[in-house]
Amino acid sequence: MVNKMQWVTHYDIAAIILEIVIFGYTYKLNNRKDRSSIFFIQMLVFNFVATIFDLITVYTYEPIEQGIIPVWAGYLFSMGYYFSVNIISALLYMYVISLLNGRETKKLEKIWFYGIVIFYTLIISTTGITKGVFYFENGVYTRGPLVALLYFMAYLTFTICLIITVKNRYRLIKSQRVAVYSFTCFIFACVVIQMYFDNLLLTNYASTVSMLLMFMSIQNPEIYTDSLTGMSNGKSFYSTTDIAIGNRKEFTAIIVEIDGFKYIKETFGTENVESLVIHVARKLSERFNTKRVFFLGGIRFGIITYNDDVISITEEIKDEFAESVSVAEINMTMIPLICYVKYPDDVLSSKELSSMIDYAFTENRDLMNDDVLCIGRDILMKQQRQLAISHLISQAIINDGFTVHYQPIRNVKTGKFSSAEALVRLIDSDLGFISPEEFIPIAEKNGKILKLGEIVFEKVCQFLASGRAEKYGIEYIEVNLSVVQCMQENLAEKLISIVDKYHLPYSAFNLEITETADFVNNEMLIENMNKLLSKGIQFSMDDYGTGFSTSDYLIELPFKMVKIGKSIVWAAMSDEKAFKILKYTVAMIKSLELEIVAEGVETKEMADTLINIGCDFLQGFYYSRPVSEDAYIEFLKK
Ligand code: C2E
Ligand code: CA
Repeated sequence: MVNKMQWVTHYDIAAIILEIVIFGYTYKLNNRKDRSSIFFIQMLVFNFVATIFDLITVYTYEPIEQGIIPVWAGYLFSMGYYFSVNIISALLYMYVISLLNGRETKKLEKIWFYGIVIFYTLIISTTGITKGVFYFENGVYTRGPLVALLYFMAYLTFTICLIITVKNRYRLIKSQRVAVYSFTCFIFACVVIQMYFDNLLLTNYASTVSMLLMFMSIQNPEIYTDSLTGMSNGKSFYSTTDIAIGNRKEFTAIIVEIDGFKYIKETFGTENVESLVIHVARKLSERFNTKRVFFLGGIRFGIITYNDDVISITEEIKDEFAESVSVAEINMTMIPLICYVKYPDDVLSSKELSSMIDYAFTENRDLMNDDVLCIGRDILMKQQRQLAISHLISQAIINDGFTVHYQPIRNVKTGKFSSAEALVRLIDSDLGFISPEEFIPIAEKNGKILKLGEIVFEKVCQFLASGRAEKYGIEYIEVNLSVVQCMQENLAEKLISIVDKYHLPYSAFNLEITETADFVNNEMLIENMNKLLSKGIQFSMDDYGTGFSTSDYLIELPFKMVKIGKSIVWAAMSDEKAFKILKYTVAMIKSLELEIVAEGVETKEMADTLINIGCDFLQGFYYSRPVSEDAYIEFLKK
């Protein structure tokens, strides 16, 4: 501090105004009482105090020199300034650490924090004796040699904050990283400027602007509020669970979703859906403490509870939705799907929590229809298995890990096994045999089914092109197509080009497609089918009678054959009514001039019965299980 005359105090005054504004906003909007907010507020307070002391020291410089104000007051003001300005670095350090998922502070971190606080306190409070930081000589303020050490410690701490942020950049959200980077960089820059123009009191202004940045990007509670419902949002939900997890505080997260959101949106339009969301939000926040209810997007809400009886809360939620509401003048009953997760019993981190919730709502919705679902470790394990399988599929695509097995199909009329169904196989050294029933749906979800389908088709072509099966009178191979494949624009071209590559006749293929709700009016599917048909590739409707049964498809889509699902066949063997249904189904299909394949034939009696009612082809373990290429050739030889 040089001559008072030269000091420019404008920046300090601007800083005070800014600080009051940030205070006001923090006070008005703050609904978060987590650790990082507490450190943020402490930083604000010390920054404010530092700025005030800075101004006081400037304006009392001359009065002290002239003896109007006693020297001890001068000591008090300057000590106050040095202490409050330096403590900010230590608080920023704690702030950064508390941002790291609200975890508990490690011992070493605490030691560093308290260490520097004690260090500052000691060297600042003893400066009257040691003349280390500053002293007054004949009423004149003079800097001591330890000021440099004081600032060195502060900048060392800022640097550590920066290093921690860079090191943990993947654990912090972008706005948090940017806030810490800009805070430290801005302060460093201002300090460099102040080194050259030491009459500009810039430091406090720099830290105030940095805190404003921080407020706007992280601390601003509006980031944690949903604008539609006015409720705390998903970010707030997970930051609350983070804090609880950081403090090892037990909690239960209850999630409620209104079923059929997509349908409601399509039927009633976005505007009405918004009023429905607001309606639900109001219901829940009136019933429960507003601070504990969160809006998680879509029409999903979260409630965090610490010691209450979870079951009674879920009962209350059900009660809330028992009455019907009127949306767009239509009375409707909302069906809440409810699940809950317990920390630490079932979940260990917020990330795990979030993915378990998403998983439960995509994979376990039906379990929530009648009952409240407890998402436990078993669901997490299932999800992890899915992830592992998803990874395996990708690996198998790269490493040629898929094989194709063949299950012979017997032509009733000729008594020959003139066709077979190609079935894909995936075997892993750790997980063992993975059923296609498990991995095909996963491949459909992660988009790998397109490549997988191509691989299977190409393997079948290679097998046929080898000429090994031809000798034994193989007429065609049935290959399963996923509905997802059928929706692919260039499916027909792709398959045709593969057949051409191996110079095979198109009649050597019959593609099986399973009926699903997605069939309805699917132009892409029809286009693909027609293109392939025009070349001579035939189609079977797979698993008839097991899923979304309607004979419309048989009329609308150009199938040559219908495969009756094994569950239908098995049911017919043990139940008279089911047998009647099967008999009439067969008659109906035959009247449409379609051929019938019955699957799941396990005994001679079954085969005889199915032949009696008119099935054209039979497939099942009674004849052969799906087997490798070599075993299939051996089978044909016999
Ligand atoms: P799917 O199309 O219904 O295939 C018939 C399934 O029934 C096969 O199961 C077969 O092993 C089994 N099976 C046949 N006869 C009998 C029997 O007598 N008794 C019993 N218990 N089972 C019998 P797999 O190989 O596990 O295939 C399951 C499903 O995976 C298939 O059902 C099919 O939907 C799908 N899939 C298999 N390979 C492919 C493929 O290459 N592409 C696509 N998209 N799906 C495939
Ligand atoms: Ca099939």
